[in-house]
Formats: sequence, C-alpha cells, structure tokens
Amino acid sequence: MTLKTKTALVTGSTSGIGLAIARALAAEGANIVLNGFGKPEEIERARAAIETEFGVRALYSGADMSKPAEIDAMVRDTTETLGSVDVLVNNAGIQFVSPIEDFPAEKWEQIIAINLSSAFYTMHAAIPGMKARGWGRIINTASAHSLVASPFKSAYVAAKHGIAGLSKTAALELAPHRITVNCISPGYVWTPLVEAQIPDTMKARGLTKEQVIEDVLLKAQPTKEFVTVDQVAALAVFLSSDAASQITGANISMDGGWTAQ
Ligand code: NAD
Repeated sequence: MTLKTKTALVTGSTSGIGLAIARALAAEGANIVLNGFGKPEEIERARAAIETEFGVRALYSGADMSKPAEIDAMVRDTTETLGSVDVLVNNAGIQFVSPIEDFPAEKWEQIIAINLSSAFYTMHAAIPGMKARGWGRIINTASAHSLVASPFKSAYVAAKHGIAGLSKTAALELAPHRITVNCISPGYVWTPLVEAQIPDTMKARGLTKEQVIEDVLLKAQPTKEFVTVDQVAALAVFLSSDAASQITGANISMDGGWTAQ
C-alpha cells in the first residue's frame, strides 16, 4: 500500500487504460478521482467498485478535457474534497483517422485540446499544491506515436509528440521539488479506442477488419500481441512509487518492440 493518504486524479478513466490505472492506484491505497464520459450507471458502477474493492474514496468528475475552465474546477474540487492531487495521470485521449487534406479542422482542434492541451491545464492547476507538499507524480499516457508516426493520424501524432516535449520540460522544472514527470508510451493496447478506429482505417486503406488488425495495427509490433491495460497500469504504479523517484523526464515505451525498429 505505497500510496495510502495520497490522491490520484486520472483523466479519461471511465474506460480502457485510464480505468485500469485508476483501479491499480486504488489497490495501492490512493483515493481516486475518475474522469471521462460514458453511461452514468456504468460510471457509477466503476466508481462504487473502486470504493468497495479497495477501501478508498473514489469521486467522479465529468469535466470535459477540452474545456480549461472545467479542468481548473476539477482540480480545485479534488483538492477541496480529498485534500490534494498527488498523482496526476493525464490519460484522456481520442483518435481520428484521415488524410491531412480531408482532416476536419474541428477534429484537429479537438484532438490537440484533449490529447495535449488538457495536460498543460491539469498541470497548471495541480503543480502549486504538489510543490507546496514537496511531492508529486505526473504520468502522461503518450503513445508509440510520441516517437514515430503513422499516416492518416496527423493530429494524434502531433499531440503525442507534443506531450512528450511538455513532459520533459515539466520534469526539468519540477526536479528540485520531488515531483517526477514521465510518459508511458504504449504500442497498441486492446481498448475501445483501438476498436473504434478500425472502421475508419478500413475505409481509409480499403482493408477488411482482419487485415487492419494483422497488417496495420500489429504490423509494427514485433511481438504480434496487444499490450494489456493491466501492464500499462502496473507501470503507472511503479512510476508512482518511491523506487521510481529518480526516473523523471523519461518516455517509457511499452510497445512490443515497435519503436526499436
Ligand atoms: P478509451 O477510449 O478506452 O478511453 C479514453 C478515455 O478518455 C475515456 O474515459 C473517455 O471518456 C475519455 N475522454 C474522451 N474525451 C474526453 C474529454 N473531452 N474529456 C474527458 N475525458 C474524455 O481509450 P484508451 O485506449 O484507454 O486510451 C487512453 C489513452 O491511451 C489515450 O491518451 C490514448 O491516446 C492512449 N493510448 C492508447 C493506445 C491504445 O492502443 N489503446 C495506445 C497508445 C496510447
């Protein structure tokens, strides 16, 4: 129970990687703030399960990560209700697949806002409290796409390269304050986000579903296996621990060898 008395705010944690990270941090004793969209009854089930299974407090914030004022209010409410934001996981993310010339401008703006700018705004709001307490962990879910590109994912690749740079800058600024800032960069993890992009990729490349899975998604992943959400969550727990106090400014790949190529 390495995180007892700490509070972890995980953006985009109503599903997929974020929910797995939130549950894993709760298992270490952290109080949790879930965030994201979804069916109210499913979100409530996930929130209540965290409280009963792990004996911690779990709150839910419906703040929209594309809206800076809602992000500010989420961090403020968390601090007022649970006392602090000690572990901040910037995980909310969306995808859109299209050639640049057809890429809708509003999708570009939305992806940059949710996948990149939201991390600036959460940090902007949470860092003063972390500095005052002299401890913090900021973990950003980046992607193999923070290191390499794929066609038709211009906004996503730009946002993920951006969050890698933002993390390094924050790591340097916060190093004297016992606050670490790192990226986890998964390859393909089997989640609703990956499943949802299959139809668009089928359309953009004229492929069947099986071809998208084998020839596009897992093509670049030498292990030929999807990463699991629990593996990503285990790394987030490690980065939150004292054993990781000297890991900062790192962009840690968990991609089955993809970016080694
Ligand atoms: P997911 O679709 O399962 O989860 C995304 C989460 O973000 C959900 O909780 C959703 O409600 C939330 N969200 C979306 N828009 C939001 C908004 N405006 N405000 C607040 N919350 C919002 O996806 P996932 O695969 O678990 O992705 C999580 C993160 O991991 C993303 O940043 C994604 O880019 C990254 N990632 C995923 C993979 C993968 O293969 N699945 C690989 C590398 C990186």
